[in-house]
Amino acid sequence: MTSKIVSVVTGGAGFLGSHLCDRLIEEGHFVICLDNLITGNIDNIAHLLGNENFKFYKYDVTEYIFISGPVHNILHFASPASPLDYIKYPIQTLKVGSLGTHKTLGLAKAKNARFLLASTSEVYGDPLVHPQDEAYWGNVNPIGVRGVYDEAKRFAEALTMAYHRYHGLDTRIVRIFNTFGPRMRLNDGRAIPAFMTQALKNEDVTVFGDGKQTRSVCYVDDLIDGIIKLLHSNINEPVNIGNPEEITIEELAKEIIQLTNSKSKIVYKELPEDDPKIRQPDITKAKLLLNWNPKVSRYDGLVKTMEYFKKKLNIN
Ligand code: NAD
Ligand code: UDP
Repeated sequence: MTSKIVSVVTGGAGFLGSHLCDRLIEEGHFVICLDNLITGNIDNIAHLLGNENFKFYKYDVTEYIFISGPVHNILHFASPASPLDYIKYPIQTLKVGSLGTHKTLGLAKAKNARFLLASTSEVYGDPLVHPQDEAYWGNVNPIGVRGVYDEAKRFAEALTMAYHRYHGLDTRIVRIFNTFGPRMRLNDGRAIPAFMTQALKNEDVTVFGDGKQTRSVCYVDDLIDGIIKLLHSNINEPVNIGNPEEITIEELAKEIIQLTNSKSKIVYKELPEDDPKIRQPDITKAKLLLNWNPKVSRYDGLVKTMEYFKKKLNIN
């Protein structure tokens, strides 16, 4: 048995989860990673498999979870996260947000562990308030195609607050805004991997709708810094973490074409149902309470992401 802080990361073989495992190990934790690999990839954690402070179990966290020995933190990141993925796996998305959150909260209660939920800006839906602060209750279509993700996360937040209020569990909720970086799946359908892959292959870059919808994208290292600060804080209410620098999707596509020195042209495709028109985090709370601010510019983050994508595509 280890005398270290033991942290369980669900979804640890995914994009964000794998970066989180890295950071927690760097901080001296023993990390137990649970992932059923539905949208994750073992390659993301291949470098950790021989590490004595890391243990991976291929496991579906919607089932009862048994872990022997002490557990100090549980970070629940398991869930399909790209619109393409959660539309492909609607029931699994609802189950991991509901049953998976119930199982991981139950484990936290049994172990008296701290619990951190990976929530999302999607709880604000297609927002009628701009920028979005944590006090906004959102504008979500429960029966739309995105509802499987949005409502699962809203339920997960409600369940987390119920365990906090009724069982006195020590909980955190991070509302993550669009984050990008190395280890995103090339074909996960999200804007940055899609544009980057298309541009590097000199294929048409697919902008949905007129491209005037906005997002505000955060580099993964900044996001992980914010999550670690939140974990170590005493804030039980949700906190937005994201980069408030807003850009239209069309501009983002142009930036990526320019950065990759690509011959690609933009083509306009149908806008997916319920696609939010605007999105920008209000990060006042994170700045004041966590002393957190994103540091990596979009340009620098895109350069690092491009290097990763070039390697994956065998482009020099
Ligand atoms: P990802 O798809 O790369 O990672 C999710 C991981 O969860 C995958 O490895 C997948 O195999 C695993 N998983 C899914 N269902 C599971 C189950 N039932 N049991 C065990 N493992 C399961 O996605 P990501 O971008 O890394 O997102 C991670 C978390 O962060 C998700 O909860 C997502 O909702 C949240 N989030 C991400 C973003 C973002 O911009 N990346 C934004 C908002 C919220
Ligand atoms: N998008 C796009 N082309 C693509 C993929 C996405 O124009 O090939 C748009 C999408 O419609 C949305 C924005 O880019 O308006 C961000 O999409 P993403 O899937 O990255 O995340 P979302 O914020 O919608 O969850």
